[in-house]
Order: sequence, then structure tokens, then C-alpha cells
Amino acid sequence: MPSVDHAAGNCSVCMESFGKIPDETARRVSCGHVYHHNCITGWLLNGNGNSCPLCRREISSRPMI
Ligand SMILES: [Zn+2]
Ligand SMILES: [Zn+2]
Repeated sequence: MPSVDHAAGNCSVCMESFGKIPDETARRVSCGHVYHHNCITGWLLNGNGNSCPLCRREISSRPMI
């Protein structure tokens, strides 16, 4: 079972808590921030390039988990 450091927080895309969903629907990007898989995928597809919604660092398009 993967441990996610930021799992106790909220997804910064939809502002929903991670506690409501199974771990496998959360995705950790290369900067270390964690979002719902659907949220970060939608964010990247929405013309935001490869920038993390929180820190704006470039993130890998490949899942890190
Ligand atoms: Zn979300
Ligand atoms: Zn980040």
C-alpha cells in the first residue's frame, strides 16, 4: 500500500479531501504534491502545460506512484 505524505490534505484542484477516496485515485506528481488522478489529468489537459497547480514547478506527465 503506497503511503502518500500529503494524503491528509485537500486536492488543490477541486478542494476535496483525500480522505473520502481510495488511495489509488490520488496521484503524486514529481514535485511531491498530491492531487486526485482525475483532477491533475484534467488540469494538465486544460492548457496548463506541465505546471503543478500549487508550486508551478514542471511535473512529469508520467505517474509517480
Ligand atoms: Zn481533486
Ligand atoms: Zn507542486
